[in-house]
Amino acid sequence: MCAKTSHENEQDQPVQKTCPQCHSQMKYSAEHQLLYCNQCAYKEDFERGQDKIVEQDLNAILQSAQSNTFKPSDLDKKVIECQACHSQIMISPDTVYVRCSFCGSEKINATAYNQNLIQPQGIIPFKITQQYARDSFNKWIREGWFRPNALKSAAMLDSLKGIYLPFWTFDAKTYTRWSGEAGHYYYVTVERNGQQVQERRIEWRPRSGDFNYSFDDVLISGVDGIDRHIVEAIYPYNLKETINYLPSLMIGWDAQIYNVDLENGYGIAKNKMDSTLEMEASRRLGGDTQRGLRVSNQFGNQTFKHLILPIWICTYMYNGKVFQFAVNGQTGKIEGEKPISWVKVFFFVLFLVIVIGTIIMLTNEAGSTSNSNPYYY
Ligand SMILES: [Zn+2]
Ligand SMILES: [Zn+2]
Repeated sequence: MCAKTSHENEQDQPVQKTCPQCHSQMKYSAEHQLLYCNQCAYKEDFERGQDKIVEQDLNAILQSAQSNTFKPSDLDKKVIECQACHSQIMISPDTVYVRCSFCGSEKINATAYNQNLIQPQGIIPFKITQQYARDSFNKWIREGWFRPNALKSAAMLDSLKGIYLPFWTFDAKTYTRWSGEAGHYYYVTVERNGQQVQERRIEWRPRSGDFNYSFDDVLISGVDGIDRHIVEAIYPYNLKETINYLPSLMIGWDAQIYNVDLENGYGIAKNKMDSTLEMEASRRLGGDTQRGLRVSNQFGNQTFKHLILPIWICTYMYNGKVFQFAVNGQTGKIEGEKPISWVKVFFFVLFLVIVIGTIIMLTNEAGSTSNSNPYYY
């Protein structure tokens, strides 16, 4: 009883790292890709094992989640002790990133992940520094034709935050039966108003078939707060670089636990897989056009992994509107929303209208009477 309590307390301690040289608090540094002391530049390596990143059986976990009513520890505030200044800090148990309000040292509340049924298996540590992400933004914001000129100076980084986000990856083997009609175009010559004209006809041919497909690492964000389109726009992550989950790699970085659970995450993944299989069936049906495509999918061998991946997120203001962008914390790929200058769009459309108008005029002046040669598309 006594031992258990002390063991629990031990686990409850926040993850922090004291520098063995100067006793400052160390952090994970994206620049060095090591644990790093900002005071004395002491570096410490970490283990890069991969043995814990194994596929888990999706259906087994979903079933056990239903039968064992999982109860996370209650959401009352909890108290942790700062190892740097020995202050007592009160935090919400589902908060991962903790900054001591007394001495400013940063730590990771690793037990936050216990608020959820499924614990992280793997992590990709940050490789992209804040400076690199900032430079990428400044370059990216200047790209594109229809951007307001003022944007180049006006776009201000509000807060560029490095966050470790939770993700689900899903694998599945599928078997699909499909049927439908492929339409093939052909042309017949008919007489209309005394003139011979070509008319398009469609020959419909019923077709059907089946195929196997294999999905590997369909990646789904485990949080709802950040726009899914923006997160997916900075894919891919090189998941081969995932190493065993290690909370100390998150010291000094913001982090979140998942709020899209395994079942809902799989729902999102399944929609993506269904549309991939429909596209695949449509490709096999072929033809110039199609109708009545029916697809029936069977899913098997579904497995998942729960991973923590690095992302830089920022919102910026332009003209009173908020825009969001993200930078992949592993590869540096940047994507997001940019404002559009409607004045520029207007003048561009005007320009196009003039050009096309001129072409049509010139064509007509050339004396061509061909009506089967439309220039306007
Ligand atoms: Zn130090
Ligand atoms: Zn402190």
